[in-house]
Amino acid sequence: MFKILKQVQDYAKGSFEAAKYIGQGLSVTFDHMRRRPVTVQYPYEKLIPSERYRGRIHYEFDKCISCEVCVRVCPINLPIVDWVFNKQTKKKELKHYSIDFGVCIFCGNCVEYCPTNCLSMTEEYELATYDRHELNYDNVALGRLPYKVTQDSMVTPLRELGYLPKGVIEPHDLPKGAARAGKFPEEIIKETEASK
Ligand code: SF4
Ligand code: SF4
Repeated sequence: MFKILKQVQDYAKGSFEAAKYIGQGLSVTFDHMRRRPVTVQYPYEKLIPSERYRGRIHYEFDKCISCEVCVRVCPINLPIVDWVFNKQTKKKELKHYSIDFGVCIFCGNCVEYCPTNCLSMTEEYELATYDRHELNYDNVALGRLPYKVTQDSMVTPLRELGYLPKGVIEPHDLPKGAARAGKFPEEIIKETEASK
């Protein structure tokens, strides 16, 4: 008799514990249902990269003088500058230029030191491919300008953290014209110059 009572008691206790844990789990679920989404519904929504974002490099073939400074300053000597010496003009003739983005670490050294400013960093960050050899961009691919997130009619551009008003950490349902927390680079420069 006592054994049956003990079993009933254990069963009731187990049921109560299970109900308690289910209740705790559901309370977390219901709590999150009230919150606004933090995640970005990529590729339908995309974050606007910051002004100094170091994305895929853009290259202007016509401005390049084949000096190979970009190769020397690159920590892994990555850019391939393929040129021949023209004996008549006594000048280098550029044939081909390429950068392998499967190896590049996007440090920006080549962009910084190029004497003719023919290299620049774009906001393009979508470099996923099925074959890593496709990441080896030649001068034609490097000369292509990226499609801006803000100009793509197929996506909803969202402001990233640096652009959001103070205290806001998620970019959905922001009122139009809401101020941003961070300063624009030109504002920082102006302030620095004024303090000199
Ligand atoms: S960004 Fe850096 S790693 Fe990439 S090619 Fe330029 S110097 Fe080399
Ligand atoms: S540093 Fe600039 S100009 Fe010189 S080879 Fe590299 S890309 Fe061309």
